[in-house]
Amino acid sequence: MNQKNEIDQVWHNDKHLLRLRINKADLEIYEIFCPSLDDSAECKNSHGDCMVQWFISRFGMDCNGGVCGAEEDLQICWTLMGDKENLESSQLWFMPFKDEVFQAWLVSNEP
Ligand SMILES: [Zn+2]
Repeated sequence: MNQKNEIDQVWHNDKHLLRLRINKADLEIYEIFCPSLDDSAECKNSHGDCMVQWFISRFGMDCNGGVCGAEEDLQICWTLMGDKENLESSQLWFMPFKDEVFQAWLVSNEP
């Protein structure tokens, strides 16, 4: 993964949350929490679908670009590469909010 290119994207820090559990040998995402009730929120497309939920429910941890300790509730930041009206040909990445490298970058880029 090319971290620099991805980190140049616009990252949304809007409190999306993954609820995780361990099931035998697998780490499962059993809930993807979207904080946005408003259909005009950044994470929604024109159908009112949350892109974060759309991608992570299909691709799970394959969308993750970061490293952090295991937690039941994992707060994430996300970015979309592509067009939110054409999700099939786009890619969403998320980073755990507590990823140390990412968090240092976030803080240094605060307005
Ligand atoms: Zn959302």
